[in-house]
Amino acid sequence: MERIHVGIIAPALGVPDETIRRFTESVHQSAPECSYRVRIAKGLGDPEGLPNISRARNIGIRSLLDSCEVIVCADVDLLVPPGLVDQSYKVAMTHSCLWARAKHARDAAEPYPWEAWKASPIREVARGTWNAMRWQEWVRSGGWDERCRGWGGEDDALTRDISEAGIPTYREDGFPLMHVRHAHRTRRHVGENTRIGQPTEWNWLVPNAAMTLFVTSRCNMQCNECSVAGLRGRDPAYSMPMEEVALFVALTRRAGYRFRVIVLSGGEPTLWPHLLPACRFIRESGITGRIKILSNGSCAGAITPDLVEVVDDIVLSVHNTHHQAEEIARKFPGTVRAVDRTTHYTQPSGPMDGVLPAKCFCGFGYFLYASTVGLCPMQLTVMPITGAWPHIMPLRGRYLDELMNLDRYRQPACTACVSNERVRDRGETVKAHD
Ligand code: SF4
Ligand code: SF4
Repeated sequence: MERIHVGIIAPALGVPDETIRRFTESVHQSAPECSYRVRIAKGLGDPEGLPNISRARNIGIRSLLDSCEVIVCADVDLLVPPGLVDQSYKVAMTHSCLWARAKHARDAAEPYPWEAWKASPIREVARGTWNAMRWQEWVRSGGWDERCRGWGGEDDALTRDISEAGIPTYREDGFPLMHVRHAHRTRRHVGENTRIGQPTEWNWLVPNAAMTLFVTSRCNMQCNECSVAGLRGRDPAYSMPMEEVALFVALTRRAGYRFRVIVLSGGEPTLWPHLLPACRFIRESGITGRIKILSNGSCAGAITPDLVEVVDDIVLSVHNTHHQAEEIARKFPGTVRAVDRTTHYTQPSGPMDGVLPAKCFCGFGYFLYASTVGLCPMQLTVMPITGAWPHIMPLRGRYLDELMNLDRYRQPACTACVSNERVRDRGETVKAHD
């Protein structure tokens, strides 16, 4: 997936349309040389109805994480000067955070007198006016602290978290933004927000990530197109010990990571002796929004009401050798569903040149196998074909931090992965039962 150079996200909670139009137009008029995209985040209050600007910004950042190289968080009541978008890209690509200050625009009539404005004094404003970082630095920073409510003070929390993450900052004075006066929409909460306390270890930007646990190599089937045949052959006796699950949960909680979904896969996970206790343990830990199991659907007895109660999704493959999957799905509607295995593709026989960056929709999944964590679960599958052992981190400390800085779409594994549409387009892969 080719990334756009710069994605700009601006929260606009209860802001007049004219203010939004002025901001967006000023970005276009500033004529960036780099490719860019502007997104406006509207709505989003907290349960008491206060606007939560931090949450709106985080959701906006997350929506740009997989498509933009550099992400800028901006206030929407600004005019963007010529040159700032390109400068932001340039500085952010040095792994730094660029933040820019603003001046007051007394008269915002177009065309804007940028040269005259440049000569007027800087208005000291909060550091949240314009922050530009690569997507990796945003993830490292943890994003905006959503404990801040209303507005005001959330920029202090971000500054603190950027510093904690060891990200250098660069103050940009050469391209001042112009602040257009407007009525305050809600009272400020600077005092409350600056008293929110110590930095949380919580990463507000990672919740979208999926983590796949390869829990066992065992399987009661022998599919020709087995996508994990290489790994299972290499480590046929592998079974994830419960201690590893406990360590994974403890480290995840301590680091503040939280996953959108944790997937249990194999092999055949229903043959894993710890399936039910592990699911309960993970559920109670609160480290994931959902738990999902991928099964071949042949072990009807293992899909029990107890298991269905503790997980959110059980996906069963429908094989032509057995027809249990549909029956089980009918028994537990809502949680269990059967998928047609013939829609699966087999892996190609070898790596292919010229297919990077990968065009795939794998999202932000990671994998855990044998006390190591890696960038994408498909890399385990592809590893025997490419011969390249994937980037892995030992399961310790903040195990995801380094992985977040890698470009998942440029990995050797992607050159032989059917999830990469550029590989599939070569016509050397076939559907599972073609
Ligand atoms: S059921 Fe899944 S793990 Fe088992 S052989 Fe088939 S593809 Fe491989
Ligand atoms: S290994 Fe496959 S699924 Fe993973 S990022 Fe590369 S192309 Fe996408």
